[in-house]
Amino acid sequence: MQGLCILGATGSIGESCLRVVRSLPDRFRVVALCAGTNVKLVAQQASEFKPALVAVSSWEWVEPLRRALEERGYREPMRITAESEGQVEAATLPEVDTVVSASHGVTGLLATYAAVQAGKRIALANKETLVVAGEMVTSEASRSGAQILPVDSEHCAIHQCLRAGELREVRRLILTGSGGPFLNTPIKKFESITPEEALNHPVWRMGGRITVDSATLMNKGLEIIEAHWLFGLKPEQIEVMIHPESIIHSMIEFKDRCVMAQLAVADMRIPIQYALTYPERVATDNDGLALDLTSVGRLNFRLPDVHRFPCLRLGRAAVEEGGCLPCVLNAADEVAVSAFLERRLPFPSIPRVIEKTLRRAPEAHFNSINDVIECDREARLWAGEIVANSMQQGA
Ligand code: MG
Repeated sequence: MQGLCILGATGSIGESCLRVVRSLPDRFRVVALCAGTNVKLVAQQASEFKPALVAVSSWEWVEPLRRALEERGYREPMRITAESEGQVEAATLPEVDTVVSASHGVTGLLATYAAVQAGKRIALANKETLVVAGEMVTSEASRSGAQILPVDSEHCAIHQCLRAGELREVRRLILTGSGGPFLNTPIKKFESITPEEALNHPVWRMGGRITVDSATLMNKGLEIIEAHWLFGLKPEQIEVMIHPESIIHSMIEFKDRCVMAQLAVADMRIPIQYALTYPERVATDNDGLALDLTSVGRLNFRLPDVHRFPCLRLGRAAVEEGGCLPCVLNAADEVAVSAFLERRLPFPSIPRVIEKTLRRAPEAHFNSINDVIECDREARLWAGEIVANSMQQGA
């Protein structure tokens, strides 16, 4: 039995992960669940999967969680803890073999890093970990022997395509993306895009920030950075292609010009199961996960329009410059996206805020995870000021 710790258990990836666990009950044991503030859902998950430990985001949620468990009549012994120290404890328990890193933002960073140091297998769904601290996390993983298996569908596809050749034989990676809801929207209409329109993703059902990131194409910018650290390829070897059907999840062109692609329906249970059962491929009897290409009919491809979606250019520039810039990019994007969702910032200003924040960043390299957290905090302040200034100018 493989012992699991799920960081971000109540989010959409956490829920999909538990569906995979439910479908393969003989293979996995849920040892620890970490959640934010959704105590009702984590109480329900705990009474079903009986973990040894549950951690919530802050101490104020411990009592509500106890009450929610009591209401369910759940009386199994279970340790309840909170905050990042609780998550670190969860991720490094001796019974945990694999940590599913699926919490939003940089909140899961400390626990994921602790799991890497402890040599656990990491099923990595949280792309911020590699975006903000890629160098530190990957070098620590090669020291400790921790295996990082990507759950992000594009990187999971690349991982699978790589089974057809060696890394040194790769000419380029082609990350595919649906193009988001504004793929065909003329740029003059961008000013009036509402949060509701941006949250209406054509293919994937995901959290708020990543859905907006898919609409601005920042998600692909972050994925270039993620791919750079996961596979050790130069940013110029990583390309992005728009593929609205989202059937091919990414491709590798090898040096002999042969291209390998991975195809599947767009359901996160597929990459999650791959990461949890690798190197095995385990049968699933769920016909809903079967790909029927005759019903898809046609697959389309085109190059992304960097003029309409400058976030793609910003993501690439940040990883090329390196240092603290990817961390600043990520923090500025999160601040700009929340301002947009709160109707304090128009859609086309998201990349403007990010670009201005990047210009304010010093040339700095990280020596510790605390440096990363500090840089993230500072960058959020800068981005917040830039948002406030742009609102004054707009008023
Ligand atoms: Mg993705």
